[in-house]
Amino acid sequence: MSGPTVLFYHGVTEKPSEPNVSTLHHSEGEFAAQMAFLTRYFNVISMETLEKKLVSNGHVSSRDIVLTFDDGFKNNLTHAAPIVDEYSLTPTLFISTEHINSGRRYPTFIVRAGIWHLDQKEIFLETIQSRYLLTPELKKQFAIKDILSRLKQGSIHLARQLTEEIESLLTPARWQELNSIYYSEEVLNWEEVKLLADSGWEIGSHCKDHAILNGSNGQEAINEQVRESKAQITSILDDCKYFSYPNGEMGYVSEIARAEVERSGYSLAFTAQAGDLQGSLDRWLLPRRLAPKTVPHLFSVLQSSVLYRAQHRRWVESLMFKK
Ligand SMILES: [Zn+2]
Repeated sequence: MSGPTVLFYHGVTEKPSEPNVSTLHHSEGEFAAQMAFLTRYFNVISMETLEKKLVSNGHVSSRDIVLTFDDGFKNNLTHAAPIVDEYSLTPTLFISTEHINSGRRYPTFIVRAGIWHLDQKEIFLETIQSRYLLTPELKKQFAIKDILSRLKQGSIHLARQLTEEIESLLTPARWQELNSIYYSEEVLNWEEVKLLADSGWEIGSHCKDHAILNGSNGQEAINEQVRESKAQITSILDDCKYFSYPNGEMGYVSEIARAEVERSGYSLAFTAQAGDLQGSLDRWLLPRRLAPKTVPHLFSVLQSSVLYRAQHRRWVESLMFKK
């Protein structure tokens, strides 16, 4: 039997926009239907309750569900919060502090929007020394996919350079236009984060720069991401006990990252690797399930978490063994 399960969402919007650019959001209707389904058939518990159960080896029920959101989109406040309030739920939100400070959009959005809206037939990206054809559309989709995978595998430094290079391919005026078309990608500011915290949302860290803590990064760079984000959230909201690894799937979380997250004093840390919370778990490499778009899919996701348990355990063991 599957469960308990930690689900992760990103954004909630009134209507989905261009799927080649904006990929992370649920529609309000879908999201509300999922909350209705979860509260009817499962026990949606807070992160703190989950932590108590895990730390004290208390009884975890297979029906326990924890709701989390990654990234910190403005629509978490404007669109998700009113719906979770209706059901008196208190999700956990993982924010990337530099993006909250600057309002700068996430690297994956800059890559998707920048490439998708380029008019030329091909581009050469200096940072990764690669040429991409951009017509027909299928080639453009391939280019986006390939650039994103290079960005996710590279170091924090490379990701920053690559994002800046793509940003420079369009004029500031064009970016302004795209930012207003894709307003769903807008990031919360600190005032808004505080409003969510005041209404009961738990705020955790998702790194400083949404950095992917893969094996291309050394200890110092990882430490800065993990520690400084925690320090800033703590200085504004009093505590920051939980962490989620950006793009935290197998291959994108290094053993150094796991060690730094534990050393920085987080109580629990979440990956994006599928699985459920049964058996002996590493509290800094906990599995989560990406919330699918519809209720029937959600039902099957919650039923199937058990199938990933062994794979998740093998991955955790392989990281621990390297240490
Ligand atoms: Zn993220």
